[in-house]
Formats: sequence, C-alpha cells, structure tokens
Amino acid sequence: MHKPIYIFVTGGVTSSLGKGIISASIAKLLQARGYAVTIQKLDPYINVDPGTLNPYEHGECYVTEDGAETDLDLGYYERFTNIKTSQANNVTTGRIYQSVINKERRGDYLGETVQVIPHITDEIKYSVQLLGNKGEFDFVITEIGGTVGDIESLPYIEAVRQMRWELTNRCLVIHLTLVPYLSAAGELKTKPTQHSVKLLLESGVQPDIIVCRTERHLNDNIRKKIALFCNVEKTSVIESIDADTIYDVPVLMLSEKLDVEILRKINISVDKEPELKVWREFLYKLKNPKGEVNIGLIGKYVELKDAYKSIVESLIHASTANEIKVNIIMVQSEHINESNLNIKLENIDGILVAPGFGERGIEGKILSIKFARENKIPFLGICLGMQCAVVEFGRNVLGYKGAYSTEINENTKYPVIDLMEDQKKISGLGGTMRLGSYPCDLKKGTKVYEVYQKQHIKERHRHRYEFNNNYLDKYQDAGMIASGINPKDNLVEIIEIKEHPWFVGVQFHPEYQSTVAKPHPLFVRFVEAAIMKK
Ligand code: GLN
Repeated sequence: MHKPIYIFVTGGVTSSLGKGIISASIAKLLQARGYAVTIQKLDPYINVDPGTLNPYEHGECYVTEDGAETDLDLGYYERFTNIKTSQANNVTTGRIYQSVINKERRGDYLGETVQVIPHITDEIKYSVQLLGNKGEFDFVITEIGGTVGDIESLPYIEAVRQMRWELTNRCLVIHLTLVPYLSAAGELKTKPTQHSVKLLLESGVQPDIIVCRTERHLNDNIRKKIALFCNVEKTSVIESIDADTIYDVPVLMLSEKLDVEILRKINISVDKEPELKVWREFLYKLKNPKGEVNIGLIGKYVELKDAYKSIVESLIHASTANEIKVNIIMVQSEHINESNLNIKLENIDGILVAPGFGERGIEGKILSIKFARENKIPFLGICLGMQCAVVEFGRNVLGYKGAYSTEINENTKYPVIDLMEDQKKISGLGGTMRLGSYPCDLKKGTKVYEVYQKQHIKERHRHRYEFNNNYLDKYQDAGMIASGINPKDNLVEIIEIKEHPWFVGVQFHPEYQSTVAKPHPLFVRFVEAAIMKK
C-alpha cells in the first residue's frame, strides 16, 4: 500500500468508553498483520497542549521522545504497538487555532475572511494527513476526543466528513458507543446508540463500523437491530465487552473480527491470523502469576487512577516479566506523618515515590523515603521522587537542616535541588520545561549499569529543577552516588545509595518507555528487588 488508509474513531453517548484502548487495539491487530500503523489523537480543548493541565482534569501528561506534552492516550498507543509517537500524534484545538492565527498574521490568507470552514477544517485535515504524507504508514488511525454532539468537536467531525468525500474508499469511520444494560428491564438497550449515530448523520458522517461497549454479550437480535437502525452491515456491529484487563481488548477485538471487517471494507481479503505470540505470552503471564508482591505508590493524586497511568502500566509490564502479581498500594503522601508511617507502609515490599509539582504532600514523600532507606526496602524515586530522596539524604545523613528544593523553599540554606540554569531565563509556563529524550551515561559497577547492561541510555524528561552539583562531592563521600550523568551538561540524572540493597532515584521518567513488548528494565528490576526483599 503506498497511499495510507485513514481510520477515524469517534465516540458516542458518553465519554470514558475507551476510545484510546480501541484505537490502540486496532493498531495492534493491523500491525500484527504486517501493516505499518500510527495513531493520532485530536483533542477538542483550547489548551495548546495538556502540559499546564492539572492531572485531575485529564489524568497524567504523557511525554514523547521529541518532547511533546501530550494526552495520556498516546501512552496506550506506544505501550500497545511499541511504536514511538511524536508531537504530530497529538493535536488540540488550541494548536489548530494558533497555527491558523499565525498564518493570518503572516498574511497567508491575504484578502480572505478566515473562518471555521474552510480554514480551521483545512488545518485539521492538514494535521491528520501530515502523518500519512510521510509515506511511512499503511494506516493512520485518528482518535477524536470528546463525544459526538459536543460543540467543541464539530469542526473535527466536519473535517472527517470532508476527508471521506475527498478520499472516498481510503477513509473509514468507526464509532464507539455504549449499549447499556437495564437491570430493571433485564435487557440491553440500543436507543442511545441509535441516537448517537443520528447525531453523526446530522453532521453528514455515516459510520462504517459500530463498536458497542457493553457489560453483557450482544445477542443476534441486538446486532440486527443496531445494523438496521444505523445503516451498517450486521458484521460491522462489533461487541466490546468489559474486560478484566485492557490488554485483553486486542484479543477480544480479534475474536469479534474487527480487523477483518476493517480490511474487508477496503477490499483486502485475509486468509491468515495476525501474529500475536508475544502479546498472548504477556497475557498468559499476567493472568497466571506465581506469587505476589506489594508495591507502595506514594503520591498526592491517589484517588485518581489516571494520574500515574504510565507508572501503573509499567509496574504491570514488570509484573509479567517477573511472573508475579504486583499489588499496587496507593498511599496518599499528604496523610503520612512520623507517627503513622509504620502503619501506612506496613507490608509494603517496595516503595515508589511518584513525580509531581509543588508542596502538597511532599513531606510525606520525604518521610517514606527515610523509611525505605533506613529499613532497606527497595526504593524507586521518579523525578520529584528522586529530588525528595536527595533532600532526605541531605537532611538526615549529611545533617543539612532544612535542606530543600528551591521549588518548595526558595530561601533554604541548603538548596540541594535547584532550578536549572537555562530555566532561570524562562517566563511562560507552557512547553518550557526540560522536555523529551536526553542521553545519559551510566557509571560501570553501579546498580543502574547492572539494570540497563549498557553505558549509554536515553530517557525522557519533564522538569525544571535538578540536583545541585555544588553538593555532589559531599553526597558521594557520604554514600549517595551519581550513577547516571548527562554527558553534555553534567546534570545528575540518577542517584543511588551504595550501601542499600536497591535504592535508585531517576530524574527522568522511565515509565514513558515501558511497553508490552519491552517492559522497562528499571521497573522489572525494582519489582524483582521487592520480591527478594519479601
Ligand atoms: N517539580 C519538579 C521539577 O520541576 C519535578 C517534576 C516532575 O516530577 N515531573 O523539577
């Protein structure tokens, strides 16, 4: 295939039906059939990117290799397909408008009235086709955020309508809806699906395939009814039943023949099964653990399961690599104090201190690290978690009373974590952190060298503060060493404590690189250390 096929995934009835997982599963199945795929997310909000959003809004902010701050769905895309995404894979309304307004100011539209149609819709179509025009992909899957009928998503649906018209058979629309079960009536209801398809039709878009999210199996009658009312073939009504794990979804979609249906729509016949050996092995290990281990995840967004999405998924990947079940115990760092520390961290075999910004809950993180250090519990600190480990060591081992990061206390006598030099000149907050992939050199003979089994690594970053190198000698003499350094500007990227079975803090985010096909070695070895401790 030289000209790519565009597959749009829209959502109806409610949000949170799992469009991201369905999109990633479609990509996985097509990839497993040997096609080159990429997935993109269009977000209808006006923020230029989700970088400045509170995790309470849309969950974690995912960071790509090229330093884009993106929607967490891109994390699923990478974890499922093991293919890297980039800024081009996440476009928001803010970004679209920013680009159109910049063009207008430059004079590109001289003489024209700049309007939603065609200027905004052209920009949307351009962004979608940017990936396809690279000539690298057979399929570009575009997930449209929000729910059809939202005012914000109208220009996107209009862009889909235009692309279908322009590309005819190179464009497919898959609509994900809800088929609720009414227990009082004892039956599944198709009406919400009919209505959401009607809404799509009002915008001139007829879906080709309808994926029905449901708690109960769809019987033949329900499938027939949806087909009849929504103008699709019965084979194009696909059931997406609630699954034990998101990693079941590609296999469930395979048994519903979603991939076959997609290929049939573009006149490609299939005679063989997709290659899912690694995936199935992963699922088998996930479902047949040989034991269990408790990992405490210490953070301030514990009531929100999406806030630490990539970390949670990385622990799941590490659990299968160790053939063990990882119980993730979320601990609210704000509630931790000297007197309840023992109880809060009781029965925990490994302590992971989460990334974050600002003061809330930070003292609880520092206390947990002290507990891990003193009781020789395996510890992994990520970004702010690593910075807290440096603060804790400064205060309690080096005797630096009141040591802190200048993010929290600008006037601390011991600024062991400080703003990076090039951050000092920055004024705006959007997209101005140290972002994306940077190289790091590991010291031989250290824990991390043993973990990665190589000297040069690359990991993704998202921070403004850093280990203050003025204190490096004092730390190293006292036993906390810098085992990973950025070769160009000498920034400390990894610290570890020599006299501890497993104590590692990383300034970067390893969780962004862990996938089903390649669980991240830091998580794998951290979980292994927790098993050994147990
Ligand atoms: N707030 C810290 C910084 O900006 C840590 C950021 C993070 O944990 N991602 O450096």
